[in-house]
Amino acid sequence: MKSGFGADTERSQIAIFTSNRTAMMRNLLICIFLLSGLHLSAQEWDKKLLTTPELSVYQKTSSYADVMAFIKAVKEGSSNITQISMGTSLEGKDIPVLVLAEPRISTPEEAKASGKPVIYVQGNIHSGEVEGKEAVQVLMRQILHGDKKHLLKNQIILFVPIYNTDSNDKMEAGRRPSQEDSPKEVGIRANSQGWDLNRDGIKMEALETKGLIKNIIVPWDPTLFVDLHTTNGTWHGYSLTWAPSYHSAGEKAPYDFTWNKILPTVTDKVRDDYGVHLGPYGYYFTRQEGWPIKTISTYNHHPRYLVNQFGLRNRMAILSESFAHERFYQRINATYAFVSEILEFTNTNGKEMMAINARAEADAINFVKEQGGKASKGVRFKKVPQDKPIAKYRTYNYTSYTNDKGQVSYLRKPEIVELENIIDYSAFEATTSAIVPKGYIIPAEFENIAQHLMDHGVAVTRLEKSVRVKGEVYNATKMTKGRRKFEKHNMATIEGAFAAGSRKYKAGDYMVDLAQPLANLVFYMLEAESDDGLVTWNFFDAYFEGKGLGENTVEYPIFKYFELR
Ligand SMILES: [Zn+2]
Repeated sequence: MKSGFGADTERSQIAIFTSNRTAMMRNLLICIFLLSGLHLSAQEWDKKLLTTPELSVYQKTSSYADVMAFIKAVKEGSSNITQISMGTSLEGKDIPVLVLAEPRISTPEEAKASGKPVIYVQGNIHSGEVEGKEAVQVLMRQILHGDKKHLLKNQIILFVPIYNTDSNDKMEAGRRPSQEDSPKEVGIRANSQGWDLNRDGIKMEALETKGLIKNIIVPWDPTLFVDLHTTNGTWHGYSLTWAPSYHSAGEKAPYDFTWNKILPTVTDKVRDDYGVHLGPYGYYFTRQEGWPIKTISTYNHHPRYLVNQFGLRNRMAILSESFAHERFYQRINATYAFVSEILEFTNTNGKEMMAINARAEADAINFVKEQGGKASKGVRFKKVPQDKPIAKYRTYNYTSYTNDKGQVSYLRKPEIVELENIIDYSAFEATTSAIVPKGYIIPAEFENIAQHLMDHGVAVTRLEKSVRVKGEVYNATKMTKGRRKFEKHNMATIEGAFAAGSRKYKAGDYMVDLAQPLANLVFYMLEAESDDGLVTWNFFDAYFEGKGLGENTVEYPIFKYFELR
């Protein structure tokens, strides 16, 4: 077994507090050797190539300046790295993207010409969840200067260690108390505009999301997107839990490959090589189920979460959640092991993944060509169990007692147990469907909608002359808005009914031919009854309210055409 780079920190913490600086440095290097998975030969790193947690014996996480200094150091003496920019944060910080490739490349055109898959890995989307930021830095060092150079054989890796740059530096103690108080200080979850960057996948209000989608995802077209987080809550028995891009209205094949192949294979490898246990993301409540629990349940399918949005792009994606209740070094170690083994997998199987994604894209386009105007897809979903239960589910044990009010309460015990046949609520089934059209017409006055789609990478054209279209209109009779704000929005749902209709549109109106790679994403965003579309995020509130929806029936202004004349 590899020692993983967190294995022996308690002992090294004692050793480190010596008054002799040389001994201290030597101990530190031994510690780092033990901790970096370099179990075969010690590598003496230049201090510049050590991360802030390593240098502080896992008491501190990197500042933005620390990360930038590390990037500068890791670039020195390597011909396999190019630094590009995702964009600039509100406070003016550049968001660095490191392109690692052999031979070195610096443009998406070169990446495409190489025929290799592009794998995208980002840390620090939530600046309190810093493990990805640290693991990515260590991994860059190991790939460029250490024992993982082989990972560049068959793939191009895009690393974004610090996605949420501004909020990272607003560090304070006590922000995430469940994290065993390590590191002491971490940054803020939201970005500096106040947006949760992992709820912004559809509305795309944050500068970071715009930069990510427009400057990186659309041009570089990653085969796999990996988003690194840290979760608190349920005391499962895993050092890290994962989720694929949940399957909703997208193509099933990329989801199936992630769920059935990538995640189980990587999980086995990480257990065998690092002695670290990984498992499916989910939570349970002893209060509801008693003990032992029978079910776990995941979050949900909405594409506002970046990982889920990726499924609608016919690409694969993985959510990584290190376990907040372990110590900082263990969380970095688990994240490092997970990402390393994902990259081992993609280095071997990347071509197959590209082929699966390409077929999914062709299927999405063919569905519109062959079934457009006839067949339906889901627009609202509910969570349902997977067909197969989890054979063995690791979790901390619980015991029960009767409290002073005479109620049964549950207390966590210190040992981990394995429960059998746990039902896993992590599949999604449509509760409402809508006909997939051949395309949509967006009247010229809704330029913001057309622009929003284009920002997502959707092909939108303008009508050069007037057209008559046949298809469906949606007659809205009611709009319900969330009473409490979520992400500064009172989210909207409309009710009504579809009716067959034909309309004439004029030159200058926008047309979205749905027979294009992002068909499933466009469908999810534009459908009137979608549970996470542009209606949901208030893009049409002013229009509906202006027309007196509620008092009057109001036609949804986006027309679904089945036939174009
Ligand atoms: Zn998170």
